[in-house]
Amino acid sequence: MSSVKLIAPYLKGNLFVAIFGMLCLIIVDFLQLIIPRIIKWAIDDISTFQAGTKELLIYALYITGCAVLIGLFRYIWRLSLIGLSRKIEEGLRNRLFFHIQTLSSSYFDKTKTGNLMAHATNDIMNIRMATGMGIVALTDAVTLGGASIIFMGYINIRLTLMVIFPMTALIFFSRFFTKKMHALYMDIQKTFSDMTESAREKFSGIRIIKAYTREKEAALQFDLISKNYVKKNISLVKIIGSFFPMLVLLSNLSLAIVLYVGGKKTMQMDITPGDFVAFISYLALLSWPMMAAGWLINLIQRGRASLDRIDDLLRVTPEIKDSPQAVSLNRAMGDICFKNVLFSYSNTREFAMSDINIKIKHGKILGVVGPPGSGKTTLLNLIPRIYDAGGGEILLDGIDIKRIKVKDLRKNISFVPQEPFLFAGTIRENIIFGQKNIDESALVKAAKEASLYDDMAALKNGFETIVGEKGVILSGGQKQRVALARAFLHDAPVLILDDPVSQVDLKTANIIIENIMKKSGEKTIIIASHRIYAVNFADEIISMEDGRIIESGTHLSLIEKNNYYTTVFRLQEI
Ligand code: ADP
Ligand code: MG
Repeated sequence: MSSVKLIAPYLKGNLFVAIFGMLCLIIVDFLQLIIPRIIKWAIDDISTFQAGTKELLIYALYITGCAVLIGLFRYIWRLSLIGLSRKIEEGLRNRLFFHIQTLSSSYFDKTKTGNLMAHATNDIMNIRMATGMGIVALTDAVTLGGASIIFMGYINIRLTLMVIFPMTALIFFSRFFTKKMHALYMDIQKTFSDMTESAREKFSGIRIIKAYTREKEAALQFDLISKNYVKKNISLVKIIGSFFPMLVLLSNLSLAIVLYVGGKKTMQMDITPGDFVAFISYLALLSWPMMAAGWLINLIQRGRASLDRIDDLLRVTPEIKDSPQAVSLNRAMGDICFKNVLFSYSNTREFAMSDINIKIKHGKILGVVGPPGSGKTTLLNLIPRIYDAGGGEILLDGIDIKRIKVKDLRKNISFVPQEPFLFAGTIRENIIFGQKNIDESALVKAAKEASLYDDMAALKNGFETIVGEKGVILSGGQKQRVALARAFLHDAPVLILDDPVSQVDLKTANIIIENIMKKSGEKTIIIASHRIYAVNFADEIISMEDGRIIESGTHLSLIEKNNYYTTVFRLQEI
């Protein structure tokens, strides 16, 4: 039962709306039930020649009144009940989004974002359906279904018992078919997204497809998915195509029984002609609640299963979070120290990092070199706790970073990741990145330091240029410089740069490096690169191989050692 607690707050918070909506729904049901009664009165009056113009007009007005009220209340219940289910959906979706954001990188290494999203989307839809249409189906099944049967029984119990049997069969058919339809529908949705994804991928790689003249193969691959999509849709059409005739058959079977048995009873004057017609009207009303009952079972089952899954997801605790004794840290000095640090990614057995010992005083620059895969990025990621070290400790200002509040730790670090990531939005938004009260001069200064400012002039809208999804309209180097400007503007005492000039030309790289050097003294800077020129100015350089530090020193002392660093330096000098 515990997962049902998830929706309780939304129901409680909107209790009035929920009750009001259900009340309107029940009113609609009862208005629908009155109509056969009015028909009965009219027919009985007509068949006994008692109805004059006035009476008939009154009956007509009653029916019209009912119809108008049904329309009005139906509008209100839809708005309140379906609206409520949308609110529940919104609340759960936001809660889930916020929660997933708190999870650690290691979780995202293990879980595919696409799968996570697909599940969350479907599960949340199931919950919305169960709480929205579920309530409607439940109310209709109980009130409309129950009352129709009672009214029919009131007219004639034997006749009611005879028609109930084929009608209850509707519950089972509806359950069977709606279950199948839903499964197929989900499958179709997935195939549809495969199809759009295939088209999107092919169009974004269109230059390569053209260069290798692979248009035909691409079209064939697309056609395969497209055919699959059609096939599944046809299956759905088949299911729906057999569901509705089945419904019609069952309700007509009941109708046949009423015509035969009820007709006889009318002739024998057991029931009046008005009762006979009213009975038929109730029978027609009964179809929907019976179907609703079958559908309801599926809705509830799916909703429950989805609630359980969402509940499980919400129970995943982030690996990296504040420890109970976590201390606050306002603005750090920026002394960083690694003591015997070990680390391995959870999905591998080998150590990605072992025996790391580093000491950096505040205001100093540490350079990290090493071939690709040697562990530079991993090392940098350990400092803001993107991943947690598996052994040893990392200290900031002498405090173990695991004992500092995560938010405070990260606030003290400006980070430029190896792959600069831009969000859809303007360049300005990407640089400011949610910081408050940033004045124009600070923004311009950061852009200049990142050697990005002159590029702004070339772009039509300058800082207001919209970069598109992941920054598609910018070159790799421009994206990298936007990421740099973001870090410079962030102005934290520790600046971590993962290969920050890998995608810019040498001249620009030199300007950026000069600007980075100017920050020494006021900031602790750690800069990783496999290019010597991007680190040779550092106060200390470590060179890494297979997750270990193989040598360290200043540029000059490393050259003297005539080791790995020297070899690479000679190679890159040319
Ligand atoms: P560098 O930045 O020096 O190129 P990395 O720190 O990116 O090196 O990688 C170091 C090692 O860790 C490599 O062997 C790489 O395959 C592995 N690695 C990096 N990221 C992950 C990850 N998320 N999961 C598992 N292994 C990883
Ligand atoms: Mg790297």
